[in-house]
Amino acid sequence: MHIDTRRWRSLEDANLTDQLRQFVAAEVDPRAEELDRDDRYPDEIIAMTAARGWNSLTLPHDVGGGASSMSRLLTVFEELSVGSAIVGISLITIFQSQKLIDAFGSASLRQRLLPRYRDGMRAAYALTERAHGSDIRSLDTKAARQANGSWHVRGQKAFITSGSAADLFVVLAETDAGVSVFAVPRETTGLHTEETAEAQTFGLRNGPHVDLHLDCLLPPDALIGEEGRGLKQAMVTLANSRVLAAGISLGIARAAFDAALQYAIGRSAFSSRVIDFQGIQWYFAEAAARIDAARLLTHQAACDLDAGRDIARSSSEAKLFASSVATEVAEMAVQVCGAHGTRTSSPFGRYLRDAKTYEIAGGSSEILKNTIAKSLIGAR
Ligand SMILES: Cc1cc2nc3c(=O)[nH]c(=O)nc-3n(C[C@H](O)[C@H](O)[C@H](O)COP(=O)(O)OP(=O)(O)OC[C@H]3O[C@@H](n4cnc5c(N)ncnc54)[C@H](O)[C@@H]3O)c2cc1C
Repeated sequence: MHIDTRRWRSLEDANLTDQLRQFVAAEVDPRAEELDRDDRYPDEIIAMTAARGWNSLTLPHDVGGGASSMSRLLTVFEELSVGSAIVGISLITIFQSQKLIDAFGSASLRQRLLPRYRDGMRAAYALTERAHGSDIRSLDTKAARQANGSWHVRGQKAFITSGSAADLFVVLAETDAGVSVFAVPRETTGLHTEETAEAQTFGLRNGPHVDLHLDCLLPPDALIGEEGRGLKQAMVTLANSRVLAAGISLGIARAAFDAALQYAIGRSAFSSRVIDFQGIQWYFAEAAARIDAARLLTHQAACDLDAGRDIARSSSEAKLFASSVATEVAEMAVQVCGAHGTRTSSPFGRYLRDAKTYEIAGGSSEILKNTIAKSLIGAR
């Protein structure tokens, strides 16, 4: 049966939405199960999205970007993630790294690195360490300025998404002035990645998350922005990317909803279609209302970003709500599909695993609630 994708109306540009839906049907859907099963970086898809300008959509024109809005980029993330959240998270680490370089990098760094995103450069964003997850106010990875102005960066990062494929790592390290941010190309002498059993996850599997080992000398302009201002820069970047993370969760929720509805329409029990039981219809009604609410909240956060408003609260609310809606909807989808929902050959386990994992990655729900509460108390 044909799934009516107009169920989720375009909140931005209908032409872009249609283009993305066709791309997902042709290029993402056929690969989604295999990417998750094999824990593989979606290289060929990321090359195709780069060629369409989606990897550099919000970068300025002078570095090959589309100078587009966050609302349009949100549409890209949501629609692609209906096909596979793995594509979404591969793009989010690209976005995070380019946002930092674009907003805070020197002119030479911007000119050297930003045009490469249009050509498909893959990137990772490395904050976490074994001993520092939610709390990155101090770090064990250290950076020391040398007499000639270059930087010696030394330490180890953990759980790095896209790290198996990244051409560029944007890394947080502590200097004498505090947490700072550095751009480290993969080919840098002294950088190597390690796939450890501890970093394997049951969800958001876009290639094994890696440990990143660094003992590198970097040129002076590898420092992104001001020394010691890295925490602030990281917070700004995360506030931006949380809107896109919410978009990925919305994609998962929609995929689970659509697939479960299709199954409930086609499945019979007690001489009736499963979808004709009122108890089952109520599941879908409740889920549709929650997905619609999460979409509006997330769209509002993107509009806030485009309007230059403070988004600490709205982007945190969007990710908090959308990620929990995705988990609820994925769980409901398993339930209404009965045994079919639990089959490893059906996509429902993937939706549930990806949805739950995104309540932790990219800012856990508890940390988001802290941010929301802080903005409420500050605003009193
Ligand atoms: C799939 C996946 C991909 C990831 N990708 C990346 C990546 O690309 N780059 C990167 O740098 N990191 C990455 N991470 C790491 C991720 O950012 C951290 O896992 C996350 O920040 C939480 O840190 P933690 O796991 O150390 O939990 P902890 O910080 O040890 O927290 C444990 C629990 O305590 C809660 N908690 C902690 N502090 C507070 C508080 N102040 N108030 C209330 N509750 C609190 C947490 O919410 C959590 O429930 C990834 C993680 C996952 C699962």
